[in-house]
Amino acid sequence: MRSQKVDQRAARVIHRTMILNELRRCGPLSRTQLAERTQLSPAAVSFVTADLLTEALLIEQAQHTSRGRAVPLDVNYAGHFAVGLKVMETHLEAVLTDLSLSVLGDLTVAYADHTPQRVTAAAVEATNLLLAQAGLSRARLGGVGLGLPGNIDPHTGTCLKSYRLDWTEVPITSMISDALGVPVWADNDVNAFATAERLVGRGKHARDFLVVTVGRGIGSGLVLGGELYRGGRGGAGELGHLLSEPGGRVCECGKRGCLEAYAAEPSLAQQLAESGANVPNAADFAALVASGDPGALTLVTDAGTRLGRALAQAANLLDPELIIVGGEGVRLGEPLFTPMRSALYAHLHTADAQSLPVLIDPWGDDAWARGAAGLVVEQFFGESSPSPPVEAAATYTDSA
Ligand SMILES: [Zn+2]
Repeated sequence: MRSQKVDQRAARVIHRTMILNELRRCGPLSRTQLAERTQLSPAAVSFVTADLLTEALLIEQAQHTSRGRAVPLDVNYAGHFAVGLKVMETHLEAVLTDLSLSVLGDLTVAYADHTPQRVTAAAVEATNLLLAQAGLSRARLGGVGLGLPGNIDPHTGTCLKSYRLDWTEVPITSMISDALGVPVWADNDVNAFATAERLVGRGKHARDFLVVTVGRGIGSGLVLGGELYRGGRGGAGELGHLLSEPGGRVCECGKRGCLEAYAAEPSLAQQLAESGANVPNAADFAALVASGDPGALTLVTDAGTRLGRALAQAANLLDPELIIVGGEGVRLGEPLFTPMRSALYAHLHTADAQSLPVLIDPWGDDAWARGAAGLVVEQFFGESSPSPPVEAAATYTDSA
């Protein structure tokens, strides 16, 4: 009897996921259409959608006057909320979103140092402020998502290593969850960004795609077979640490010749400064590129070429349908992207420009934090969706 209940519960979780994701991808559908598309029985669809309506995860389309099974259902994107936090060295950026990752509020909290305790306090402050500004109680919050520059254990949420924050084995999700009393999920910031692209962005209809971020560092998120690929220890997608120049410049990771040591924005500014130019930071470098400075253009051409070669190697290995490029570094524009595309297509084994589109994501300041909120939204749509209690599932059966 117990195993039967567990089986029923497992089936029910799978059916919830199927129905929610069919609606996420396709938009409003009637119960009959849902049954046809998911191959579930009409009884199972009725049962599961009734639950999802009660939980405010689905909504019936109000403009339809017809009753019963023909009334289209849609995901109730405004029924639950998420907070996304992008943790950086000097501050965190925070957004409040609904389940479509539309930003309802945003703010920044600065800290004097980035110890885990300071970051936890800032995360609590940001979450409380965002909820207060929106007039929402904590009970309406599905959780908090954290995007971090580092390797995160996907099972425990522990930050295994962050060179940028100088963290090793920090249980940051537990620390924030204990302080806030809501679930907290964390992932590498680029994985979080890729998750948002997969759920509601340009990767919504693709099963295999690569998200690349350019800016403070260079990272990538791999979506393979419709799921984010994190690797054995959460460290997949370190595009910035592919070898670009054997024995070359020293990278943030301590090794020599990584792509990031040539093509990340701070590295570009540093290289130009070494030639005697006055380039205090990455924003100044971007301004020099925009003004046509020959030294800056030479460096950004080299960076684009190296980036394109690295993308070709990744694409030759993984055969993605699509590459999405985002990050603050998109401000460097065509001086970066023209040589990047040239090198990519020159080294691509099987495809050409038509068969492997590269989309440049117009970058907003809150894009990283939105990505982090995507970690919460994923819990509603993913296999790990919050499950109903076993007892409540006892009467649920599906003959399909
Ligand atoms: Zn490196």
